[in-house]
Amino acid sequence: MKLDTSRALFEEALQVMPGGVSSPVRAAKPFPFYTKSAKGCRLTDADGNDYLDFCMGYGPLILGHQPPAIKEAIQKQLDAGWLYGTPCELEVRFAQKIMNYMPGMQMMRFVSTGSEATMSAIRAARGYTGKDKVIKIEGGFHGAHDGVLVKAGSGAATMGVPDSLGVPKDFTKHTLQVPFNDVHAMEAALETNKDEVACVIMEPIMCNMGPILPKEGYLRAVRNLTREYGAVLIFDEVVTGFRIGMFGAQGYFGVEPDMTTLGKIAGGGLPIGIFGGKKEIMETVAPQGGVYQAGTFNGNPLSLAAGMATLEYCDKNRVHLKLNEDGEALRQALTELLKRMKLDYSVSGTASMFQVFFGGKPENYREALLCDKELYSKFWSHMLEGGVFLPPSQFETCFLSTAHEKRDFENLLRAFIKSCGALK
Ligand code: PMP
Repeated sequence: MKLDTSRALFEEALQVMPGGVSSPVRAAKPFPFYTKSAKGCRLTDADGNDYLDFCMGYGPLILGHQPPAIKEAIQKQLDAGWLYGTPCELEVRFAQKIMNYMPGMQMMRFVSTGSEATMSAIRAARGYTGKDKVIKIEGGFHGAHDGVLVKAGSGAATMGVPDSLGVPKDFTKHTLQVPFNDVHAMEAALETNKDEVACVIMEPIMCNMGPILPKEGYLRAVRNLTREYGAVLIFDEVVTGFRIGMFGAQGYFGVEPDMTTLGKIAGGGLPIGIFGGKKEIMETVAPQGGVYQAGTFNGNPLSLAAGMATLEYCDKNRVHLKLNEDGEALRQALTELLKRMKLDYSVSGTASMFQVFFGGKPENYREALLCDKELYSKFWSHMLEGGVFLPPSQFETCFLSTAHEKRDFENLLRAFIKSCGALK
C-alpha cells in the first residue's frame, strides 16, 4: 500500500500540531492516513487508497458519509445563513422533535459538543441540588473537561485523581468512581456520601471501553438508588442516543433519567451537544436561573438542520430495524469465526455497534483493561492493510451505517479471518 503522501503530511503535521493530530484518538502507529474524501461507507486517503469505514466518525454518521437527504438539508440551510446570533424557529422545532422521542427532556439547550453537554449537565445538577459531588463510572468517558477526567481504575468511590496533567486535584476531588454493573458499589458510594452527591453521570451502555452492556436490572437499580438518595441521574447518551433506536437507550431499557446528554447522531455529522431534562432542573439554567451556560455557536442552524434531517430520515425509513439486524448478524458471524479459529477473543456490542475484545468478555473497565491492547493494535494494522478502517483503540466502538451493504460485511469478515490468521 502506497502511503507516501500521508507519511509526508504527518511529518509536516508533527511540526504544527501536538502529535500531528487534532484529537488523540486519531493517532496511529507509525502514522495515520490522511483522508481526502469520504462517501457512503468508504474513505479515500491522500495517496488514493480506499478503506471500508467502520469508525464512521466515531458514531455520528449513522447514514454514512454524505447521505443525499442530509446534504440537501445542509445546502438549504446554507442558503438561509449559518450563524445568526439570534434565536431561530429551527431551535424550537428541533427541541420539540427531540422531546417526542425522549419525553424526559422537558427542556433542553443546544451546545456545540458532547463535552460541553456533559459539563453543563453536571453544572445544572449541582446548581439544582446545591451539592458538589459527582459519581461517575470507572472508565466512563464524558468528554475532555476537568471534572470528569479522572483516572479510571482507582478504587470504588475513592477520591478522584486527575487523569491529565493540568487538572488540579482540587477540581476532581469531588468526582467519585464506581465500577459499572455493580449495584452494591453504587449504593455504598451514595450511602458514604449521603446528602453530598449532586448527580450520577453514566452511559447506559458503556461505549468508551468497547461496548459493554448493563446487566439485567442494573439501570433500574441505579434509577431507584439515585431517587432514594436525592441525586440527579444523568444518562450520557452522546453515543447511544438515536443509535440504539429513536428512543435512545433510555427508551430501550425503559429507564428514564432526570437529565440526558446527546451529541453525535443528533447533529447529523456536524458539531452538536444537547443537554436537557426535567423542567425544574433545566429552569436553573441562565437566563432563567443562576447556572451559567452560554456559547457563540449554541443552537447552530447548520447542525440543527443536519440533525433534524437525520432524525426525520431515520424515523421515516425505520433505519434502526435493518441496522440492528445487520449488527446482530455481524456479531454472530464474528463470534462463529472466532470459534472456528479457536481464538479466545470475544465479540461485544448491541444494535449497530460492535467490538472484538482480545481476551475475556469484560463486564466493566477493570476487566476490559485485562484485554491484550498490543494484540489489538497488531490486528488493527492487519485490518487496515486489508482495506478496513476500525478505530485504532481496543476501547473504542465500531459502528455500522445504512451505507454498509452485504458485500461490505463480507469484505470485513474476509479481512477479519486474514488478520486473525496473521496473529497466530
Ligand atoms: N460522552 C460520551 C459518551 C462520548 O463518547 C463522548 C465522545 N466520544 C463525549 C461525551 C464527548 O463528546 P464530544 O467529543 O462531542 O465532545
